[in-house]
Amino acid sequence: MNAPVTEKPKPDDALLGRSLEQLTEWVRSQGQPPYRGKQLHQWLYQKGARSLSDITVFPKQWRSEVETVKVGRSRVHHRSIAPDQTRKYLLRLEDDALVETVGIPTEKRLTVCVSSQVGCPMNCDFCATGKGGFLRNLKAWEIVDQVLTVQEDFQRRVSNVVFMGMGEPLLNLDEVVASVRTLNEDVGIAQRSLVISTVGIPHRIRQLAEHNLQVTFAVSLHAPEQKLRAQLIPGAKHYPLEKLLSDCRKYVNMTGRRVTFEYILLAGVNDSPKQAIALAKLIQGMQSHVNLIPYNPISEADYQRPKTHDIQQFKHALEQYKIAVSVRYSRGLETDAACGQLRINQSVIISPSPVLS
Ligand code: SAH
Repeated sequence: MNAPVTEKPKPDDALLGRSLEQLTEWVRSQGQPPYRGKQLHQWLYQKGARSLSDITVFPKQWRSEVETVKVGRSRVHHRSIAPDQTRKYLLRLEDDALVETVGIPTEKRLTVCVSSQVGCPMNCDFCATGKGGFLRNLKAWEIVDQVLTVQEDFQRRVSNVVFMGMGEPLLNLDEVVASVRTLNEDVGIAQRSLVISTVGIPHRIRQLAEHNLQVTFAVSLHAPEQKLRAQLIPGAKHYPLEKLLSDCRKYVNMTGRRVTFEYILLAGVNDSPKQAIALAKLIQGMQSHVNLIPYNPISEADYQRPKTHDIQQFKHALEQYKIAVSVRYSRGLETDAACGQLRINQSVIISPSPVLS
């Protein structure tokens, strides 16, 4: 009997990220019965198969024929665990690019903070990721892989995913949307438990709205006026604040979902009660929520985290204008795993330890 010819996958073609239908189509193209598609789907998304040779329900002969087919799993190059149990992973991708992902456990939730790009081109002055430059966009399966990696390491189901790791998700919109679909339909995470966070890219907020996802949409605002915002986020220079906010209003109208505004608090820069009032006036009347993020220190920048009193005063000023507001203290600070602290750490690249597979 002739063995079926093994389809050679293209270099950018992984099995991870494909739907049940697409996987079924693939097994058929390999001369296998369609029910193997369901098995493959289960082993990829529920059992964490890293190679087709792991899939013991497949016939031995076929397994050895397809063991080099690309599944799309990375290797954990380094892992660090903070005292609060937040775990940061440095993942090595197939082209040896390194990307960070963070697992944040609480009693009820396991949240993964995923990266959407290797590095970031936005160059925010307070963020470590941008300081390291930009390498490339991630593929959808490289985003899904991050979630599966954290799920396996914690031996617990991931409940929430936030696109707040390295990168600007709206600069990689197609792959991010594809990963949202896979996380939802194949991994089984509710769309409402996903957050896409962006500094805002012209035209892309509308494009995201057109996908009609149920995800939470977050915009990193950080300043109540354009001049200061452009200083803090050089990548936002050509996207006037008024235009960004009018796009956010349209997003709310199109999707019926509120926008979360993230606002990093930098002592003496953007944290005065006057600036809080200016912020309140900007977003008043819009279905929204403000998330205040006290600055997490990075070595490349000179900013300070405001005193607790000033943070509370800023929050109070917003509340006076009936703005819904919460303060988000980042987890994982001790291992540089908190918001804005993700970077490709050179010392880790030179001496990896411990290496997990
Ligand atoms: N590019 C996207 C997602 C990545 S950053 C975005 O900017 O929204 C996720 C959040 O962490 C953003 O709100 C970002 O501004 C914030 N952040 C970046 N650096 C930080 C730091 N040093 N301290 C606290 N928050 C930071």
